[in-house]
Amino acid sequence: MTINEDRFRAHFDTLTRAGATDDGGLNRPTFSDAHLEARRQFRALIEEAGFEARTDGAGNLSAFFDCGVPGAQTLLFGSHLDSVPHGGRFDGTLGVAVAFEALQTIRDAAVPLAVNLEVIDFTDEEGSWVALMGSRATAGMLRPQNLDNPRGRGEAFHQALAHAGLTTDGILAAARPPETLAGYLELHIEQGSRLETSQTDLGIVTGMVGIWMYHVTFQGRADHAGTTSMHSRLDAAQGAAAFTLAARRVAMEQFPACVANTGKMVVAPGAFNIVPETVVVHLELRGQQQPMMERLEAALSDEATKAAEAFGLTVDFHFLEAVYPTAMDERMQRALEDGAEGLGLSHRRLPSLAGHDAQSMARLCPAGMVFVPSVGGFSHSSREFTAWADCVNGANTMLRAVLKLARRGG
Ligand SMILES: [Zn+2]
Repeated sequence: MTINEDRFRAHFDTLTRAGATDDGGLNRPTFSDAHLEARRQFRALIEEAGFEARTDGAGNLSAFFDCGVPGAQTLLFGSHLDSVPHGGRFDGTLGVAVAFEALQTIRDAAVPLAVNLEVIDFTDEEGSWVALMGSRATAGMLRPQNLDNPRGRGEAFHQALAHAGLTTDGILAAARPPETLAGYLELHIEQGSRLETSQTDLGIVTGMVGIWMYHVTFQGRADHAGTTSMHSRLDAAQGAAAFTLAARRVAMEQFPACVANTGKMVVAPGAFNIVPETVVVHLELRGQQQPMMERLEAALSDEATKAAEAFGLTVDFHFLEAVYPTAMDERMQRALEDGAEGLGLSHRRLPSLAGHDAQSMARLCPAGMVFVPSVGGFSHSSREFTAWADCVNGANTMLRAVLKLARRGG
């Protein structure tokens, strides 16, 4: 049994239309008009194909196919239709299109199933508002405080929710009981170049990276930038700059399995002619193993203190939020590997260096994930590209893995 390539291509094209940009990318942050349009189009495809379209309190949209066995569990598979601002066409949307194609192929072949099948598009995987919002809601991981003031834009968030017809109460009530689920599978682009470099068709994901976020605030003193001597000024930007260089050095020299990023600096008061009084550095750490991340955190906290002392500043190293490293389920990994084997495709196990919905779902049920190669490793950019043959290979692998897990007597 193989997927229908033409139908798959047509559906992928339909699902990448809303928010398409002139340079071949996709711009549909969660709850934007383009995002809601993409969801309307997916709902239309679901209904056209004769499946039941479902939406839960978190806005997660799914195609449900009942196996006819009373009280059966459900195997979920899918990804997300939202994108980062000015992102690419493959991130998330490919996984939804692959899952939907596998579902139709199985339904059309009238395979007797032991579990229900449900293809899901999770809300706000990219974190325009709340990272992995839909899958964390499904896994019962969200608390009211996560929805109070996300990204410091509480009012805009509540307006966006209303625009999408959702409420925070609904999001918090979207949790599913673990015993109703047989597992979760997801196909995604690698967003890196390990598969391409090693000329491997597929990556079987062993686990997800942990992501820890901090505000590192250097505090100096605002002074006249012209009349205060270079010796007497307390310049917060100097501490922030020294810390940024130290973060790179420490990560590279002592923690080669981790990465550190200072993605944003907010300088105040922020003028040509005022010595910077405060700089808030937005720091993010990623790693596979919690003990190593804890050691990196301690090392960077020391570096922040040293950088502050060197310039007569004070510093506050403030932990904001963590996504903890998560392992994928062994049986799910094997189902995907067997799928690749059966098709004669090369595969290797590798960790994911980005966060994904499978990470939240792993808290709820056995989860597995497969990567297809990203040309040049580009992602979160209009340069994102995966060869169509690789998309088809991925879809057929997903089809086989779902069959193995869902087939009656399988
Ligand atoms: Zn994604």
